[in-house]
Amino acid sequence: MEYDITIGLEVHCELKSTSKVFSPSPNAYSEKPNTNISVIDLGFPGILPVVNKESIKKALTVATALNCETPEYMIFDRKNYYYPDLPKGYQITQMHYPVGTNGYLDIYVEDKVKRIYIHDTHLEEDTASLDHYDKYSLIDYNRCGVPLLETVTEPCMHSIDEALAFLESLKRLFLYTDVSDVKVELGQLRCDINVSLAPKGSNELGVKVEMKNIISYNVKMALESEIKRQIQELNNNRAIVKETRRYDEATMQTYRMRSKEEAIDYKYFIEPNIPPIKLTNELKKEVKESLPELAFSKITRYINEYGLSLVDAKTIAKDKDIANYYEKIVTSGKDPKMVSNWVTTRVLGRLSKDEITISEFNFTEDKMIELLDFIESGKISTKQAKDIFYKCIEENKTPKKVVKESGMEQITNEEEIRKIVLEVLEENSDVAKDYNPEKGRMLDFFIGQTMKKSRGKANPGVATKVLKEELLKYANR
Ligand code: ADP
Ligand code: MG
Repeated sequence: MEYDITIGLEVHCELKSTSKVFSPSPNAYSEKPNTNISVIDLGFPGILPVVNKESIKKALTVATALNCETPEYMIFDRKNYYYPDLPKGYQITQMHYPVGTNGYLDIYVEDKVKRIYIHDTHLEEDTASLDHYDKYSLIDYNRCGVPLLETVTEPCMHSIDEALAFLESLKRLFLYTDVSDVKVELGQLRCDINVSLAPKGSNELGVKVEMKNIISYNVKMALESEIKRQIQELNNNRAIVKETRRYDEATMQTYRMRSKEEAIDYKYFIEPNIPPIKLTNELKKEVKESLPELAFSKITRYINEYGLSLVDAKTIAKDKDIANYYEKIVTSGKDPKMVSNWVTTRVLGRLSKDEITISEFNFTEDKMIELLDFIESGKISTKQAKDIFYKCIEENKTPKKVVKESGMEQITNEEEIRKIVLEVLEENSDVAKDYNPEKGRMLDFFIGQTMKKSRGKANPGVATKVLKEELLKYANR
């Protein structure tokens, strides 16, 4: 039997900010457990949360970038449950009035454009992290209260590739808007994955299974194993149960945590300790106007305006700083395709070899512009340019300096070349006086001699032209 796959994601991203979302503790990663904490994070009686304005602005930024409707007030809710990862006995989140609703994000899935619909995005506090051992568990409250933005999609993705492309695009959006460092290895990007199967062509969605708290690099494997499991169940005439599962990295399989009947009733109500915060039109306008151009728009523009291939456009737009580097060189008047070649091959190759980012790269945009100037004016060949590029990096010098020092600069001046040509003809006058324009071999000989005498610096085109003129004169003497 064939099935249609449907996937919906709930993506959690830790925002960066100086302090936590409701307390003055630093929002910073620490190897030392329980150091970045305060009485608010620990839920002592009588504490009052104070909202971090920076986090609200960042949440509003993402909502705007995701083309969401935004509410008039920022209002929080209490989600009640008891588990030691949140010692207050509830999580402050947004249920009734999320900061963003009904949005979308356009993405490229391979070479197709796909619109992913966003149900909502909301601001909440992260929980403590627990490490479970055989006879005990350890709790680290450092993460407790870190601003967390949860973005919920509609069930609108229909393949693993679409889900992965969306996740990658969303991650890039967080980086472009600078709301998070999205350090995956530190668990700053995690998601709940909902997946269901329905008979091919069916109008109704199948029963969904939720996989909780999947770190983003495990999403592919978790989906593969869960889809495989559901196919097996359905093919064996076993119904899929609406349930929550977890993914185990070691066995690469999903395991049942709880069924929907066991689902917790969170008894949401408006958080009474946080008064509504007005999201003024001025603030919304300011946020909208300060949004940078996002990756999707850049990719599309690079293809349509610059004539780049999709692959190259994607490669450059993958990192905002690379895109800025690229665009600065192009807007200086350099050929977009030529710059793209340099950036996607040599620049990125060098960055990965040296394991550095573009901001740490000593071959700045200005140096690249200088190097391309040399090529364009015919002063150096493309092959020489490559050598100069690496020399500039190794010796931290400008192309001008390297070209000058190594005497690599091509001679293009006709009169300078003519002087060399005349010397060559004098030295080989026996041959030269028998010059016959019909016989190409002799011209090649003289080009070779001229190149040799100029130590490879004569521009071959100019040298050929001058040689032809002078040889004719010589033979007719
Ligand atoms: P619940 O009430 O179980 O929390 P929601 O309707 O709130 O379910 O949806 C939660 C997430 O599950 C969303 O990301 C949504 O896109 C996804 N989802 C809902 N129904 C399905 C389905 N049939 N198949 C796959 N994903 C689904
Ligand atoms: Mg839900």
